[in-house]
This record gives sequence, structure tokens and C-alpha cells, in this order.
Amino acid sequence: MSRSTSIDLEDFVRESEEFVAAHHPRRTPASVREAVSFSVLPEKSAEVEARELAEALTWRRTTYDAGFGWIDGPVEHGGRGLPSHFADAYRTVERRFQVPDEAYTRFSVAILCPTLLEHADAGLRAELLSPLRRADLVSCQLFSEPDAGSDLASVRTRATREGDAWTVTGQKVWTSGAHYSQVGLLLARTEAGSRRHRGLTAFLIDMDQPGIEVRPIHQMTGGASFSEVFLDGAVVPDSRRIGPEGQGWSVIMATMRHERSVIGTEGGVDLALIDQLASVVAAEPDLQEDLSVLERLGEALVRGRSGAAMTQAFLAAAGGEPGPEMSMSKVLLTDNLHRISELAQDVLLDRAVVASGTPAELAWNQLTLSLEGLRIGGGTDEILRTVVAERVLGLPRPEAPTSR
Ligand SMILES: Cc1cc2nc3c(=O)[nH]c(=O)nc-3n(C[C@H](O)[C@H](O)[C@H](O)COP(=O)(O)OP(=O)(O)OC[C@H]3O[C@@H](n4cnc5c(N)ncnc54)[C@H](O)[C@@H]3O)c2cc1C
Repeated sequence: MSRSTSIDLEDFVRESEEFVAAHHPRRTPASVREAVSFSVLPEKSAEVEARELAEALTWRRTTYDAGFGWIDGPVEHGGRGLPSHFADAYRTVERRFQVPDEAYTRFSVAILCPTLLEHADAGLRAELLSPLRRADLVSCQLFSEPDAGSDLASVRTRATREGDAWTVTGQKVWTSGAHYSQVGLLLARTEAGSRRHRGLTAFLIDMDQPGIEVRPIHQMTGGASFSEVFLDGAVVPDSRRIGPEGQGWSVIMATMRHERSVIGTEGGVDLALIDQLASVVAAEPDLQEDLSVLERLGEALVRGRSGAAMTQAFLAAAGGEPGPEMSMSKVLLTDNLHRISELAQDVLLDRAVVASGTPAELAWNQLTLSLEGLRIGGGTDEILRTVVAERVLGLPRPEAPTSR
């Protein structure tokens, strides 16, 4: 396996294929159908989650140790130092195989690491980047509070400095993956009496300590993928501060940018569901002749494919760096999933709500119910449309500016 930075793309793709094929079977139309997730929120039993988490962590470690875990990352932090189109090529190869679900490490790997590269000092980068990319550390995001969601500048969790450490008291909410994370990216108010986005600081806090209690929140779909997190005298060393004191807002904005890009590029979740719905339609002669059903299915496909192409074009134009345009990708994806969900309900009619014994029919309700979560998480539709209006179209900001 070559670790050279001057490898030819074709050779690299061949190496990637050989590597992934040595560990996982190829995807087939049947395996794709079987693995499709109807819920856009994780809806796992504790046993399934524990198994999937272990598989995801093992796979990340295997890829990292083989030189495929951070293809476009800096060599000094365990990356391979190749241009980002090599990382894209690897992802394309991986999608052809039945690899473990990367959702468990997505925040740590794809959102936190680029944020740390931009904002953490050299010591923190050296301490954290490799373990996060290798999934030796898994992180959650401790931003939202009961009175600070879209308006994150209202954060009230306080961190007070005592010598080389900070003591943290407050409450976070909707923290995805808090129950299996070892660390959390924390936004706290560090300047007493400060207002809005001034006086906030970002830290990476250890989750496993007496001052932190994680209480699961049960979703209306049945799962519990996020939690309330209570911090009462929790401690974080100053060496885990990310960026200068009082400058946490720019750290958080970088995180948001990377988060929206990741959600917007979560390739093909709508396309996979269109494929599922097409197979429902294909099995029923009445539906096959219903032009409005075919038209709506076709429209969802056009929107899905053009959304994916648009996102790729944005990323290519920006050299892989997500800009405010990525907000459009998330809004388009959510909108298309709504169309698919409505069409599924119209096609299945009472079978969508009354169990007829076919698991796939009930599964569409998971999509319908979980979609509200996607509309809200990572910035609500309204906030993202405002981002597009202000930062893409350059329209003037309203009197009370949006925080996120
Ligand atoms: C699936 C999921 C996962 C999440 N994971 C995490 C996580 O890991 N970590 C974390 O910190 N948070 C997480 N969140 C929280 C999420 O970021 C917030 O729920 C979101 O930012 C909205 O905040 P809120 O719930 O307080 O709603 P609010 O901000 O109170 O908004 C309520 C409604 O008012 C609208 N609104 C608010 N302000 C404006 C405005 N200025 N202009 C127009 N409309 C406005 C909103 O669009 C929304 O419809 C998650 C949420 C979900 C659903």
C-alpha cells in the first residue's frame, strides 16, 4: 500500500477498490433495498446500536491504519496529504460496498476535525486530530440549550476559570450521540455579563465525569438518538479550549458551515427512497397507470439528481470548502424528502397507517414522522433560507439578525 503523496489517481482508485473489497462485500440492488433507512433519525434498539457502533469504529480504525482514513488531511496529523479529489474518489469507491454506517462518527470526523484544523492551537491539533479521525475518540455537539437553538447567541451555560481549568454549569439539549461520545464540543459563556455572541468560548470537554449527566430524549418515532445533558460543576482543562477566550462564536460558525455541508451532501438518501417507492408503484398495476403518481415520482427524481449535482458543483467551485450555498443543499434535500413522504402516504393510503403485515409499508411512517427532525437539526429551514437570502443573494439583514 503506497503512502506516497505523488500517487496517480488511477492507481489510487485501484488500491482503494482492493482495500475495501478485502473487508466488505459489494453492494447489490438487493442489499441496497434491504439496507435503506426510512427514518432520517437513527431508530435503533440498544443492541443494534451497540453492534453498529462497534462495527463503525472498527472500520474507521482499519481505514485509518491503512492510509484511507484521512486521505486529504495534513501528513503531520496522520493524514495522507493528497488533494481532496482523491478523498472524493475514495468515497465513490466505498459507496459501492456494504461498509458500516458512518453516522456514528460523522460529527467527530467530518465536522469537528475541519473546525479544529481552522481554530485549535498546535498542541490541541496534535492531541486530538488523529484520535478523532481514527475514532479512538467520538465527539458530540453541545450547543443547543432549552432557550438557545436557532438563536445560539442566547447560550447561558457558564464556564468559570479556576487556575488551569474551567468549571461548567448549565444545560444542553438535543445532543445527538451524547450517550456514546467520550468528548463534546461545548459552547459556554465565559465572560460574566457578556451579551449575545460576545464572551462565548468553545471547549472540548470529557463527557465521562461526575459533573455531567446524560438523559435520553425519546423521539416520536420510538428511538432515542439524542439527549439532554446536564452540567453541574463539570471540569474542562484550559488546554482543551478551542481558540481564544471569548472568541467561541467563530469556532461555532465554522462548525455550522461544515455541518450543513455534510447534511447537504449525505449522498442519495432521497434517491434511495425514490427507488424504494418506485418498486411499490411497479408492483401495482393501478398505480403504474396513475399519471399523477408517475409525474410526482419523476419530479422527485429530477429534484434529487439536480440537488446532488448542484452540491457537487458548489463544492468543486469552492475547492472543497463549504460556503453559505451549502444551506441550499440541505433545504433542497429536506424539501424533496417531504415530497417523497407525501407521495408515499398518497400511494399507500390506509396501508400507511394500518399494519397489513408488510414491514415496508409501516416503514414509510418512519420517514414521515422523522422528517420534522431533519427540518430542524443543523439549522431550521427558515434559518437556512435566511442564510441564503443574506449571504448568497446579499440581501440586507433584518433589524434582529439571525444567529446561526
Ligand atoms: C435531529 C436533531 C438533531 C440535533 N442534534 C443536535 C446536536 O447534536 N447538538 C446540538 O447542540 N443541537 C442539536 N439539535 C438542535 C437543533 O440545532 C435545534 O433544534 C435547532 O437549531 C432549532 O432550535 P430550537 O429547537 O430551539 O427551535 P427555535 O430556535 O426555538 O425555533 C422554533 C421555530 O422558530 C423558527 N425561527 C426561530 N428563529 C427564527 C428567525 N430568526 N427567523 C425565522 N424563523 C425563526 C424556527 O425556524 C423554528 O421553526 C438537533 C435537533 C434535531 C431535530
